[in-house]
Amino acid sequence: MANKKLLFTKKQIAEIMQKHPTPFHIYDEAGIRGNARQFKKAFSILPGFNEFFAVKALPNPFIMGILKEEGFGADCSSYPELLLAEKIGLQKENIMFSSNDTPATEYKKARDLGAIINLDDISHIPFLESAAGFPDLICLRFNPGPARKGNIIIGDPKEAKYGFTREQLFEGYRILQEKGIKRFGLHTMVISNELNPDFFIETAKMMFELATEIKEKLGIKLEFVNLGGGLGIPQKPEEKALDYDKLAAGIKKAYDEIIVKNNLDGIKIFMECGRVITGPYGYLVTTVLHLKHIYKEYVGCDACMANFMRPALYGAYHHITILGKENEPTTKMYDVTGSLCENNDKFAIDRPLPEVREGDILVIHDTGAHGHAMGFNYNGKLRSAELLLRENGEVIQIRRAETADDYFATLDFVSLEKFQ
Ligand SMILES: *Cc1c(COP(=O)(O)O)cnc(C)c1O
Repeated sequence: MANKKLLFTKKQIAEIMQKHPTPFHIYDEAGIRGNARQFKKAFSILPGFNEFFAVKALPNPFIMGILKEEGFGADCSSYPELLLAEKIGLQKENIMFSSNDTPATEYKKARDLGAIINLDDISHIPFLESAAGFPDLICLRFNPGPARKGNIIIGDPKEAKYGFTREQLFEGYRILQEKGIKRFGLHTMVISNELNPDFFIETAKMMFELATEIKEKLGIKLEFVNLGGGLGIPQKPEEKALDYDKLAAGIKKAYDEIIVKNNLDGIKIFMECGRVITGPYGYLVTTVLHLKHIYKEYVGCDACMANFMRPALYGAYHHITILGKENEPTTKMYDVTGSLCENNDKFAIDRPLPEVREGDILVIHDTGAHGHAMGFNYNGKLRSAELLLRENGEVIQIRRAETADDYFATLDFVSLEKFQ
């Protein structure tokens, strides 16, 4: 099988491991910056383009700070994510708050920061009004339902819990107009991890036609259309990355044909991608603890699905490289597992690899988005450290590994003693 390029050699990782034991996620600053610049350059052909990095993909303020320097805003979906955006100095309309089933306290925080609020449901209009009052600019999230097909991660739009129906959308804008709101946005997100550019161009067309209809029926000229995230990354070695220029050109063509033609020129285009921005520039590094031969061959790692759950959650393919064996033939078939008492705790099933030995160092690719962030503590598992390979070659720790004390931090052992 084809291989995936690796950022570092076994020797470099061995040096890093002297200071930082496995498992850890390591991110590539040069890769993130280079990609962010390419992304921004390509989509800047779209009027008023802005990318709000989806914080949930990699909620680390060091990475968010790098992306802020590259000119991105942040897309937040919870109170702590809003705090992270605030801590790196983002404010006002550089923050998009796209949440669902939202508590009042979160709307309040979003209002305090002056963030753009993206409402998920028509019932949130009165809810927001009484919880925090209306901001100047309000965005509504559209769910096209049976009009579009989604995929395994996000579900079929008509089965997905997000957004307003078409009828509710028009009703929602009308209510807000009556309440005196003058600035509006429109948002959707119908797919996740998609590599076909035509899908996004179709979504853009749908949104631009909707913008035209909103103008015709309600007299509202939208300030922006947010096309959401969902741009995919190549996880299998044979897959190819999305061509940003081609995608941007396709969206621009639709913009010219629909928006400009209907005299709505000036509507800004926003995106809120996470995965495509950082996904390929993160790696989970783990050491092989045990080899087990029963009915199948198992490789037992010091990382588990608490450190990276996409393979277990979605059956996602994530490439695995054994350091120092990059060019050896894949002669054996393994299940690569973690230590959770759950049989789906596997990074790979029936994966052809070179012969594995105890102590080998495995690198799991494309963990830079929805990786460490999805970590959890089930089974008493602790989240790993996050490291950053700087552009100058230096490696810094941007989040330490959890300890048992962290695991116990929410327990009060003094009251336990009294209790017993
Ligand atoms: C998760 C999410 C994103 C980011 O998705 P990616 O697949 O990482 O690009 C953007 N917007 C919303 C509303 C999301 O829920």
